[in-house]
Amino acid sequence: MKKIILLVCLAAMTAAQGKVKSDYKSYTGFTCDPAPVLPEKETHPSLWFKQSDVARLRALKNQDAIAASLWKQITESPLLTMEFLNVPAASDDNKVIHTYYGSMSQLAKYAGFMAWMTDDPELRARYVERATKALERAYDGPIRSLDPKEQSGPVDEIYMGTWLQNYAAAYDWVQPFLTPQADQAIRTNLAAEAERVATNLYNWANSPHNHLSKPAWGAGSMALALSSEPKARSWLGAALKAANENTRYFFSSDGIYREGSHYMTFSWINFVPFMHHYLNVSGVNQFKDYQPLMEWGIAARNNKGWLPNIEDSYIRPFPGHMTAAAYRKSTTWLHSSAPLSEVLMWGYKTTDMTPFDTSVKNGGYNYTGASMDYALPLDEYLTYDPAIKSTPPDCSPTVFLKGGQTTFRNTWKSGDPSARYLLFQGVAEADNHQHAEHLSFILFAENQMMASDGGYSRGSYTDELRKTWYNKAPAHNVITLNGAPPQDVAESVTPVSRYRMDTAFFDFEEKDAPYPKGGLLRRAVAFPGQSYFVVADIVTSPVAAPAVLYLHGGRGTISGTNEYRRWNYSQDVYGSAAQLHTWIFGSDPELSIKDEVGELTYLKGDYAPFPYIMAKASGMEMTFLQVLFPSKTEKGVPVVSSVREGSQVWATVTGTDATDLFLVQPRPEKAVFQGLETDATFFWIRTDKKGARQLAVREATFVRRNGKVLFQSSEPRSGAQDLRASAAFVDSRN
Ligand code: CA
Ligand code: MN
Repeated sequence: MKKIILLVCLAAMTAAQGKVKSDYKSYTGFTCDPAPVLPEKETHPSLWFKQSDVARLRALKNQDAIAASLWKQITESPLLTMEFLNVPAASDDNKVIHTYYGSMSQLAKYAGFMAWMTDDPELRARYVERATKALERAYDGPIRSLDPKEQSGPVDEIYMGTWLQNYAAAYDWVQPFLTPQADQAIRTNLAAEAERVATNLYNWANSPHNHLSKPAWGAGSMALALSSEPKARSWLGAALKAANENTRYFFSSDGIYREGSHYMTFSWINFVPFMHHYLNVSGVNQFKDYQPLMEWGIAARNNKGWLPNIEDSYIRPFPGHMTAAAYRKSTTWLHSSAPLSEVLMWGYKTTDMTPFDTSVKNGGYNYTGASMDYALPLDEYLTYDPAIKSTPPDCSPTVFLKGGQTTFRNTWKSGDPSARYLLFQGVAEADNHQHAEHLSFILFAENQMMASDGGYSRGSYTDELRKTWYNKAPAHNVITLNGAPPQDVAESVTPVSRYRMDTAFFDFEEKDAPYPKGGLLRRAVAFPGQSYFVVADIVTSPVAAPAVLYLHGGRGTISGTNEYRRWNYSQDVYGSAAQLHTWIFGSDPELSIKDEVGELTYLKGDYAPFPYIMAKASGMEMTFLQVLFPSKTEKGVPVVSSVREGSQVWATVTGTDATDLFLVQPRPEKAVFQGLETDATFFWIRTDKKGARQLAVREATFVRRNGKVLFQSSEPRSGAQDLRASAAFVDSRN
């Protein structure tokens, strides 16, 4: 009786908390053809390669340094020689049980692969025997009596997909060598697991997040390995359906994965193998459906090749070398003539792997999030094509994605200290792994990570700090109103982006997002001279309320007072010694700026406290203007000052050869400063000894300098103009 009352209470509480199911059909993501396609005849090997590919794969190790390094990692892997682990008991420690299934499935895969890489019949027999023995023991122990729904349990469904794919590959490789009896026994066992996973997908995951799709891709690969089994079609059908539910909701049409870079990579290790298997076995090409993701991986990366630690994520490399071969004939918006394959290969080959390699060395964790389960070097070897050229993108390095991420860049080049990168984040929230980082930014310059996102957590999803700090607004470069971060206008609707400008001398974009109790943040990012950044905010509130601007400068020390801070970075695994100079101005005469300390994590385990600043204003109409100036040393750092007039804020940035003047104001009213007059809500002008050089305006009808008209329009216009080149005013785009 008591139990029933408790259940009723729980149900009522859940309803009261407003836990309405998300609309999983309404976002812009993509789906693949859901109709399962199986080959007429099951053949082996067929998942990763055919018998006719063996000579090429054996020769691959001598083709270049990358192939040689992968071959070395494979052949020196302890998985090829280690003793089989003892079967664990259900009562054993989680890590013992997880390690058992992860290692046993991987060592089966490694041995199965090596059986094809040798000509020596004796050696081959030994590899076959090792893989066969591991396959015969697959899924022994307590796995089927343990509940995968237990959070962070040892046999979570997110691992099962990878184990299935390991065994699918191992079986595919040793099947030609098996006795009929051994073959039958192994098939029966693997089929049972495919059935168990395919029919439990929705029991184990209650929404289409990666817990649904990861095991689905595993079941899909096993269906392709056992394609003549009567149930294979239903396993593959279930896999395709579940994977589509994930990609439709979590990917944007332009390839942003809304659970963040980490969960994209964590899923990549399942969908990339599955896509290769499906293409090789059934001739179905899903790579074309995933092309937006491949392009996103290039668009979103910083100049070291790292994907941002937005949402529940660490920074990640983008392993485009594992898919490049599938895009040899694919045109891409990233390049005017080269195929996507070459751009993906360029992306991988210009990625600085230092922090990821260091992480493997120090803690044994690689970048996949599945170090205990996933055979990374082996899959890299299987997919790598050294014949593909490296070609950098030739589109503008500043990219505006419809899904809400904008990357400001002055170059695609890697390793160049003058490279500048700022990610401006405004992606509609999904319902899993979300952080309150709407309209935040991440800054990379001088080969160093600067303004930052706090990251995932210290090391795991279950860290208490993840919920109390890491996913909260104060761990991000955002502005809160009444303590609340900006949010979406409606479920799965991307925040408004407008006034996009991308010229050789000035880039710009505004994103808007409302606050939960009314009020609006209009945040604009400007990239003057493509060398530093200015962030201009307008916060409006229906009633007078406090607004707090957070600025995290990353893993640096801090000095400075009042509106100015200097952030110092030492040389570390994330980059070079460098500085970031920041000034925060605001319209509120009472604006207070305070130093705080909060944790930051770029990679699992590498957490530490770092300074950040909080700028607090209050009112119904507040403007902020931040100048973010990266530099190698103090040399060339400009002199920066500001004046305010009501809610208008002017800032002057005086450098060695030019002076930049900025204005932000909430309404298009006449603003005057030292001979300049305009009604722009955002204004920039660069002047030097010879006078006015370039300007940019938002929502302006005029700009006059010392009485001379520089810009005039009967309707408010937004755009930029190079005044010297007698070039026309270039209107912004939406
Ligand atoms: Ca978010
Ligand atoms: Mn975050």
